[in-house]
Amino acid sequence: KNLSMHFPIMGGVFRRPVGKVHAVNDVSFELHAGETFGVVGESGCGKSTLGRTIVRLYEPTQGSVNFRGDDIAHLKGDGLMRLRREIQMIFQDPYASLNPRMTIRDILEEPFILHGMGGSAEERLAKVKELVKVVGLRVSDINKFPHEFSGGQRQRIGIARALTLNPSIIVCDEAVSALDVSIQSQVLNLLIELQKTLNLTYVFISHDLTVVKYISDRVAVMYLGRIVELASSDDIYDNAMHPYTKALLSSVPVPDPDRIQHSEILEGEVPSPTNPPSGCPFHTRCKYVTDRCINELPRLTKVAGNDDHQVACHFAEKIKEEADQG
Ligand code: SF4
Ligand code: MG
Repeated sequence: KNLSMHFPIMGGVFRRPVGKVHAVNDVSFELHAGETFGVVGESGCGKSTLGRTIVRLYEPTQGSVNFRGDDIAHLKGDGLMRLRREIQMIFQDPYASLNPRMTIRDILEEPFILHGMGGSAEERLAKVKELVKVVGLRVSDINKFPHEFSGGQRQRIGIARALTLNPSIIVCDEAVSALDVSIQSQVLNLLIELQKTLNLTYVFISHDLTVVKYISDRVAVMYLGRIVELASSDDIYDNAMHPYTKALLSSVPVPDPDRIQHSEILEGEVPSPTNPPSGCPFHTRCKYVTDRCINELPRLTKVAGNDDHQVACHFAEKIKEEADQG
């Protein structure tokens, strides 16, 4: 709720703070149990920072993260340790996040040992074997090292590690982005299958709209650290209202001539998050910009007639009416 994460920029001879990066700005949303909540946006829009703040790898500058009635935003020590069992993260590059000197068995046993869980050595080993099977790897491979696996297999190891402590939420940050397209769908399908069998809730972060559409129930579109549109996956792709969402969608090649006709080219560069524009963060690139946009920040507001669709644009309804009239 109202989550912000600002990082200081150090500069000058004395390496003192000379400014700050507004990575996440006043972001609010609810995560529903069992859903996949997609977060999309261009690189640098703050989606990874948002993910890391949810799992409490970062302590937010402002706002709260409420989980089962408690604000976890500033947890430390034992409280944070307990939270780690509930909220886990899967990263883009499994190779970088797996210790090359540890076998798969060691990698998967480590969380049990750190958290004093998993029972006796035999019980732990049995759990490791079970996890390896669950993610579609061979039990006979547990004594191998990460470099002996392919990219897709390594991501399966990353998923197994995230599952060790039986979490309820997993934040997937570009979890399939480094994989070949054919392998992507295998890993996505594994995530979908695991969600059903283990009652998992996902926050699925990606710059890839196709992947997000495939896996998400709801989608938040981020721009310069803010959610500019939030709706069901279907509504984001079929009834997008924010000019940024529309531009983002039209940059995806789709085998649909209607869409290509309406394609809008996203011009100009994303402004620097160290010096975000006044008013609407998208105003420097928006073709509908008015004085009001430059002066007044549009709030994320429910769309008339659809409680589950929110958009942050002063003129969303008007732009939609015009588009509907062709
Ligand atoms: Fe464009 Fe104005 Fe809407 Fe921002 S508020 S997206 S600048 S029309
Ligand atoms: Mg990122």
